[in-house]
Amino acid sequence: MPERARPSSITGGCLCGAIRFTIRFPNDSDWPPKGNGICQCTMCRKHSGSLLPQNISFPVAHLSPSLSSLPTYKTYASGPTTSRGFCSTCGSPLSFNDKKDPDLVEINIGALDEEALIGDKVEEEAWEDEYGRHVPRKGGWGYELGFPQYHIFAENEIKGVTDGFEGDKWLTDRKGGNVFKGKVGEMRRKD
Ligand SMILES: [Zn+2]
Ligand SMILES: [Zn+2]
Repeated sequence: MPERARPSSITGGCLCGAIRFTIRFPNDSDWPPKGNGICQCTMCRKHSGSLLPQNISFPVAHLSPSLSSLPTYKTYASGPTTSRGFCSTCGSPLSFNDKKDPDLVEINIGALDEEALIGDKVEEEAWEDEYGRHVPRKGGWGYELGFPQYHIFAENEIKGVTDGFEGDKWLTDRKGGNVFKGKVGEMRRKD
């Protein structure tokens, strides 16, 4: 897909709306965001309730307001330096934070607004057929925001379910061994 202009900002929030935030994209920021990955580790799965948790890393300075300033935003210390943020009213999982990288915050991609991902509904162009009502969309940055740039904890791939991605993969995190492509279940020992 050709590279399109970047949005100046996008919005997101939790399910109940108590937490709302804006992410800015100054011209010198990554576009599409490079720190965008799917992590199949069990902690990300448990926290997100998803087999394919996906987060995008943004500079804390590009996010406003600061999530910790919002009354229903709570964090759970999931590791010695890491925490996961959520809304204490509706339970929406929102963020991953690591004290080793205090200038970055990872946002759970599903917390981004529908309009940011798939655009606005164009009701006047809607039509109906035997499949139901089709409402075209205009705008949205779901491809650029949603296309995963990397895959980590591929060791937890589920054969035939979560192992079909083509991109760069690591067995655990990106420090633990070399990058590869393909399915973990098809790798064979070499000795
Ligand atoms: Zn909420
Ligand atoms: Zn993870």
